[in-house]
Amino acid sequence: MPSSSLQEICALFGQPVAGNPTQFMIEKAFVHHGLEWRYLTLEVAPADLADAVRGMRAMGFQGGNITKPHKVAVIELVDRLSDAAARMGAVNCIVREGNELVGENTDGKGFIESLRGVTDPTDKRVVLLGAGGAARAIGIELALAGAAAITVVNRTVDRGQQLVDMLNANGAVSATLAAWEGEYPVPAETQVLVNATSIGLNDPEARIPVKLDACPPGLVVADVVVSPPDTRFLAEAKAHGATTLDGLGMIVNQGAIGFKLWTGVDPDKTIMREAVEEFLGL
Ligand code: NDP
Repeated sequence: MPSSSLQEICALFGQPVAGNPTQFMIEKAFVHHGLEWRYLTLEVAPADLADAVRGMRAMGFQGGNITKPHKVAVIELVDRLSDAAARMGAVNCIVREGNELVGENTDGKGFIESLRGVTDPTDKRVVLLGAGGAARAIGIELALAGAAAITVVNRTVDRGQQLVDMLNANGAVSATLAAWEGEYPVPAETQVLVNATSIGLNDPEARIPVKLDACPPGLVVADVVVSPPDTRFLAEAKAHGATTLDGLGMIVNQGAIGFKLWTGVDPDKTIMREAVEEFLGL
């Protein structure tokens, strides 16, 4: 239950913890909604993760986010998993329910909510660049949302194949792998193209090696990269006539989902987006 008299605490466990947009965004929303809560960023070494989660229980934390490198290891330390976290094999959010700590995953849900602002993922043919944590979360939620087909394009073939196998085991989606060698020619029938790699992160000039020449103007192109959000990938897609979606919507929506799970309050997403933009100096 939300409380205005008690100081509740959420936490972000992981590395690096300095300069985190999520903390800035969540703290602004606490203030906006009159909640005397705190969101801390706490750097935790892998060997100390179990103690940190025990500390979370002992100190009555209402939950927290879990980031690299703890998203998989923390599974053994919570009491149970949500359906999405179990399917993905990764937790990015912990929620206290009574005396239990529940492992959730909000990354993919945040992306889907953002995507729904420009298109319905149902029956869409998707090309997903990357097979890391963000791609797994997005891929599973796309499958659950009824995407027709997902082509995973990844540099490391084994990792890509693991994601394809996971997707084919979840829902009716048909997933296939394309090994990423040189320029990937995006197939003409693609309706949604997602960059879920870290290419472009802190590097506005970074170019993603894909060819968009065959794609129709109705294509939706999304990027998960938050900093900077106006990536070269999105600029090139826009020049091809595509509808583009930056990574800010995903971070705001995943933050809003966690906020509601922890506090019971539906946060004002405009305030949260403005906070992320302020943090990034936009
Ligand atoms: P991971 O390290 O788990 O995965 C990185 C992925 O990028 C892998 O598939 C990797 O391929 C690929 N990759 C990296 N460099 C290259 C390259 N030069 N060429 C081809 N492929 C490359 O990272 P995450 O999945 O955790 O994060 C990915 C991005 O998503 C980051 O920018 C992160 O900030 C962002 N993110 C955004 C969120 C949001 O709310 N907007 C939420 C979560 C993440 P390979 O397997 O071959 O190494």
